Amino acid sequence: MIKKDAHLILEITDLHASVEDQPILQGVNLQIRAGEIHAVMGRNGSGKSTLSKIIAGHPAYTVTSGEVKFQGKDILNMEPEDRARAGVFLGFQYPVEIPGVSNLEFLRVATNSRRVEMDEEELDTFAFEDLVNEKLKLVQMDPIFLERSVNEGFSGGEKKRNEILQMALLQPIVSILDETDSGLDIDALRVIAAGVNQLNTPYSATLLITHYQRLLNEVIPDFVHVMSSGKILRTGGKELALELEEYGYDCVEKPSNNKEVN
Ligand code: ADP
Ligand code: MG
Repeated sequence: MIKKDAHLILEITDLHASVEDQPILQGVNLQIRAGEIHAVMGRNGSGKSTLSKIIAGHPAYTVTSGEVKFQGKDILNMEPEDRARAGVFLGFQYPVEIPGVSNLEFLRVATNSRRVEMDEEELDTFAFEDLVNEKLKLVQMDPIFLERSVNEGFSGGEKKRNEILQMALLQPIVSILDETDSGLDIDALRVIAAGVNQLNTPYSATLLITHYQRLLNEVIPDFVHVMSSGKILRTGGKELALELEEYGYDCVEKPSNNKEVN
């Protein structure tokens, strides 16, 4: 099969989606190529998390029209776990706690299921511990967190580190990080950013969802998109994030506003 654009990882076309019969996404278009870092910014309630959950396959959200293609393939009919195995990773805005499930075992099962898909050998407990210990350094996490239940009692920052640890183990093709920066102190933010930078390869892509510019000082995006009322209103380079920081979302949502007087 000849692909039109082999570097195209994610292609979202005129995506409309609703939650409980309430339309949220109203025609999103987005193309992400290998090696690129994209940021989606926008006010609370503009539809950023909805977009990320739809890409990952969250069952509460209904696509009413449009397409989401991952590596040229329509993924909207795929189960969330099949999307994850294929290399779609979503770091949640609010990572869930799973009491009674060991973090280490959870990570091992998830990693092995992704490795099978990548034609890599599955790892037994000992081999996995070696791998996970190496990845823990990337996020500067104490191995003690592997022995606890998934995210149970983790602080906000620890949960976010655990998300990046998962990402490091799963080697996704597209990583969508939803507000991974929110609630982090500056040191944790730097650790997360360094992890994200290190994990971005010429063969994979990253979609950062954030409403603050500060993460984007550490992870420099190739493209910044501004979302408003379920649509991408404007796309620019990294300077667009600085513009938003200075003038607020009004300057994009109401382009007639005079920047000097606002
Ligand atoms: P953002 O991440 O940009 O803050 P969201 O995608 O979370 O925005 O939300 C967009 C809109 O969709 C909001 O008005 C929100 O209340 C609504 N919404 C999102 N998820 C649900 C849900 N599960 N049930 C009802 N409304 C929802
Ligand atoms: Mg959100």
